[in-house]
Amino acid sequence: PLSRGHNFSAGPAALPEAVLRRAQAELLEWGTSGASVMEVSHRGKEFMAMAEQAEADLRGLLAIPANYKVLFLQGGATQQFAQIPMNLARPEQRADYIVTGDWGEKAVREAGSLVRAQVSATSAANNYTALPPRADWDLDPASAYVHYTPNETIRGVEFHEVPDVGGVPLIADMSSTILSRRIDVSRFGLIYAGAQKNIGPSGLVVLIVREDLLERCPSTLPKIFSFAEHAAQNSLLNTPNTFGWYLAGLVFQWLKAEGGLAVIEQRNRRKAETLYDFIDTSDFYANPVDRAARSWMNVPFTLADSALDAAFLQQSRDAGLLALKGHKLVGGMRASLYNAVEQASVDALVDFMRDFARRNG
Ligand code: PMP
Repeated sequence: PLSRGHNFSAGPAALPEAVLRRAQAELLEWGTSGASVMEVSHRGKEFMAMAEQAEADLRGLLAIPANYKVLFLQGGATQQFAQIPMNLARPEQRADYIVTGDWGEKAVREAGSLVRAQVSATSAANNYTALPPRADWDLDPASAYVHYTPNETIRGVEFHEVPDVGGVPLIADMSSTILSRRIDVSRFGLIYAGAQKNIGPSGLVVLIVREDLLERCPSTLPKIFSFAEHAAQNSLLNTPNTFGWYLAGLVFQWLKAEGGLAVIEQRNRRKAETLYDFIDTSDFYANPVDRAARSWMNVPFTLADSALDAAFLQQSRDAGLLALKGHKLVGGMRASLYNAVEQASVDALVDFMRDFARRNG
């Protein structure tokens, strides 16, 4: 018998069970291909049709304007920390980074060896528990771009509005927030996301890039690193992550069938509220993040006494609640509430937390 748990992993993270079942059902024979999706050419008719449908579905879900390219690449979000400056800024040019957590820190550090990367605002001083006020951002209108991390996965800090950065292209690492809510893509120059939270399996990264920015890609770049080359070849410059692309396509179909991002957004808001409301009314659990910047996707929390952490983790695991251990940088607990995590799982978590507090408080 199956014993799938309530999965609160930060990533690779829960996928919709309906998607996994469909992939299971067509694993040996995919469509009329007589083989699995992993065993056919990425240049064949069937794969290309699937790939185009996946892109069309993603475009529909996010209402991506026609002047944006969608790329399905490899190398994860981490590779993009380097590839974005390589493609979109000249070595001597300034690029502005808004750092609201550990991933933004990594992004600016990597960019620093390639371009004049500036930390133009940071909330490091308050331990990344709030967003730096927009009025304090030191932006340069001549910068190549402004980079930020709309949702910081480790400390659970999220922008609930897209910041206004004037005419400079805004670049967003949406790894842990993409598809969790509606967004206005036209506000961005480039959006990128590692797949392993709300999109599909790891090993795939999705990029949404405004076409005019592709003109910046230096022709001297090795082709494999060039956004312009990947765009010109429809992400088939070399063999893509075919299974990842296929599974992402199934997730996009699932999101459409669930009613699209307006519905998903309502669910995610309610899931997050359920957990934060419980934490706030409890004097046993705490979340340090400014209420206005609390993430819908990643909810870190601590217990009144960290000596109880090990018991909490063991007993939650025994109750079928998976992966609640916080990131090693912050300790404590973290519950990630990506799209595939159902309200029922959040309710089960809160029930467990209430019971654990009663027994140990
Ligand atoms: N950015 C963010 C916001 C992330 O959460 C992660 C991974 N957790 C990364 C970047 C790095 O992604 P990858 O491991 O796919 O390179």
